[in-house]
Amino acid sequence: MFSFTFQLPFGRKTYRTVIIAVFILLSLSTFSQEYKTIKAQKGDGIYSVLKQNGLPPAEYLDQFIELNKTKLGKDNSLIIGKTYRLPVIETKNIAIQEPPPVAENSQEKIVYEIFGNKYKEITIKSRELSKAVYYLMSGHGGPDPGAVGKLYGQLLCEDEYAYDVTLRLARNLIERGATVYMIIRDPNDGIRDEQFLKPDKDEVCFPNSPIPLNQVARLHQGTEAVNKLYAQNKGKYQRLVVIHVDSRSQKENIDVFFYHDKRSDTGKKMAITLKETFGQKYARHQPNRGYGGSVTDRNLYVIKNSFPPSVFIELGNINHTRDQQRFILSDNRQAVANWLRDGIVEDYKKSIK
Ligand SMILES: [Zn+2]
Repeated sequence: MFSFTFQLPFGRKTYRTVIIAVFILLSLSTFSQEYKTIKAQKGDGIYSVLKQNGLPPAEYLDQFIELNKTKLGKDNSLIIGKTYRLPVIETKNIAIQEPPPVAENSQEKIVYEIFGNKYKEITIKSRELSKAVYYLMSGHGGPDPGAVGKLYGQLLCEDEYAYDVTLRLARNLIERGATVYMIIRDPNDGIRDEQFLKPDKDEVCFPNSPIPLNQVARLHQGTEAVNKLYAQNKGKYQRLVVIHVDSRSQKENIDVFFYHDKRSDTGKKMAITLKETFGQKYARHQPNRGYGGSVTDRNLYVIKNSFPPSVFIELGNINHTRDQQRFILSDNRQAVANWLRDGIVEDYKKSIK
């Protein structure tokens, strides 16, 4: 394979240098051949190929993309007939080192202005999520209010209510030691306890980009923000949680329900755990109520194109009187955020087992 023409006289020293150089070249070439490769067949996607080869997509997706980025089609699809390298399975330390628990009398506090004056100070209650990174994205924002309902002559805008629940969830997760990124951000709203959340248009996308009105551009912007952060947090446990409020006919009352991307088993498991948590909470707090939440896959831009496993949550129907109580009362918004936190903690515990 290699042919060298050396102009130098072969003194003893030079000879040794050449041997070393050839040795390095040979070992490099052996190393590059260590990647197993596959040829993409009809119907193959990154998720299915990784799974078929015993590589959990949650851990190896970014490496796969990294190794093959020049050969991927649109939205990281595989092109039939092309050869792709598979990531090398890492041998990891099996024991996950638990961080020390927070001493009971420690008063560790952090301040995040995004939560507003009343809630900006957070006391860390535990470290159970200290190895987890969450991207929380509330629906719409900026020039786009999302679904708009009405109650007592007041407008209820999806983006404001989804944002408030998302902020409450972010705070809950930080209390448990998690690293949390709010993807959609409002510089001056904070967590609000009013029933009617005043609609505004000043939300931005992480870190501080104005949100475009065009839907495709808006979804792309949020997804890009998540994927950039995902690369920065490479190797860590990462999840994306997207929160919306649905809009249906006034008569249709719906419980909190969940979507996942059809390729993502990890996202599906998370959605199921969240649904089960809601079922248990309702059974305990309102035994005769019942709970009709569901988990289904759906082709949604953000969860399809984001690298971290993700779940998409609909909080209810913004037009239905009973569902509206779930958003307009701040205690209920907090309860929803608490239940989501409990489901997320549960999912994390299952994932690291
Ligand atoms: Zn929405």
